[in-house]
Amino acid sequence: MGIAQAAAAAGHSVLVIEQKALAHGTSSKSSKLIHGGLRYLETAQIKLVFECLSERSKLLKLAPNLVRLELFNIPVYKKTRRRPWEIFAGLSLYAILGLLKPSALFKRIPRSEWDDLDGISTKDLQAVFRYNDGATDDAALTRAVMRSASDLGADLAMPAEFISADPSDDGNVVKYSVRGSVYTCKAHLLVNAAGPWANAVLDKISTSPSKLAFDLIAGTHIVIDEPAPKGMYYVEAPQDGRAVFVMPWKGKTMIGTTETKYEGDPSLIAPLDSEIEYLCEVASTYFPRLKSLKPSDVQTSFAGLRVLPHAKGRAFSRPRDTTFYVDKKLAPRVVTIYGGKLTAYRVTSEKFVAKFSKLMPKRTRKARTSNLQLSPDPQ
Ligand SMILES: Cc1cc2nc3c(=O)[nH]c(=O)nc-3n(C[C@H](O)[C@H](O)[C@H](O)COP(=O)(O)OP(=O)(O)OC[C@H]3O[C@@H](n4cnc5c(N)ncnc54)[C@H](O)[C@@H]3O)c2cc1C
Repeated sequence: MGIAQAAAAAGHSVLVIEQKALAHGTSSKSSKLIHGGLRYLETAQIKLVFECLSERSKLLKLAPNLVRLELFNIPVYKKTRRRPWEIFAGLSLYAILGLLKPSALFKRIPRSEWDDLDGISTKDLQAVFRYNDGATDDAALTRAVMRSASDLGADLAMPAEFISADPSDDGNVVKYSVRGSVYTCKAHLLVNAAGPWANAVLDKISTSPSKLAFDLIAGTHIVIDEPAPKGMYYVEAPQDGRAVFVMPWKGKTMIGTTETKYEGDPSLIAPLDSEIEYLCEVASTYFPRLKSLKPSDVQTSFAGLRVLPHAKGRAFSRPRDTTFYVDKKLAPRVVTIYGGKLTAYRVTSEKFVAKFSKLMPKRTRKARTSNLQLSPDPQ
């Protein structure tokens, strides 16, 4: 949707082909954060964090009814692996990368205020840090971006399945089906933004373009029928030290996320029982009132798939950047997007259009996405 908006703003004609519904894929199953990604500092993804923090500032202005700042609390216990000085150092760097704006500053919560932390356990608690980060309704944001693209003239075919493309030196002949009828269109550029389905889409292209190998890492969230906490809590899973969020979501409490390698059909992704148990255990460790939380108390759960570069070892340390991939042996008429962050959708899309507009006819720009306001779904 971001690329549709940026391309339409640059004056190009755009058709979005979506098989199910807007934000049907990963974009409705994220942690719903518009953030720099504090934890990516541990793996030195400084440029990504800086870019995402700058996008956070922009989206707070462009979509004030969709993106809001929340208070994030990081409790540090005797057994927490990341020590208070490490959290302090990380938050200091985060504040600098956020250009020391008021929204980028953090503080240590005095012991006298710990009772006001949504009932978090204070046994062996050593320090609590508080900073700000952004949150959104990911699906509503995605729909808002598509509405903005439509206002600029982009067309949407939905539900519509991409069937095939026949690329040549000057463009593609694209086939897609809508409720059983097959349609054909011509496109100077085919943008394969199918997320976890990206390589399945490449399989349908007549020239058999090469692909990047990636891993699908499933992330599960659960929602429990408990009043929403006043802020977000960034806790360390007792099982393996991974960061897990406990956060407000539509008046309830949401807990996530897990990281499990996934090898099946992306359309069949669903939370595993073991992941739901893991998240219940994390929440009950830190919030005594949730001590008896069981999987049967979970109201809803959902799982999404991260597209991460193929590698051995934990998903945590792999880059979250976006790759624009073109098979150089073939005419560069098909570009595949691998990976990325919801937070960076706008700047990524702008970069995409700047890089590939030379493959498209010259057009007069209609708007700049940095000035386009985004509004929530009409009532
Ligand atoms: C668990 C988890 C938590 C995350 N949390 C955050 C977060 O807090 N903040 C953040 O910034 N990012 C987060 N991310 C990353 C973010 O969610 C993704 O980067 C983003 O949603 C990817 O969007 P996308 O449009 O590339 O893919 P998707 O949203 O998956 O969209 C791909 C679309 O392609 C469609 N499609 C596939 N095949 C076809 C076909 N043949 N024909 C037609 N349509 C097709 C699908 O229906 C789907 O709607 C998270 C990711 C995960 C998995």
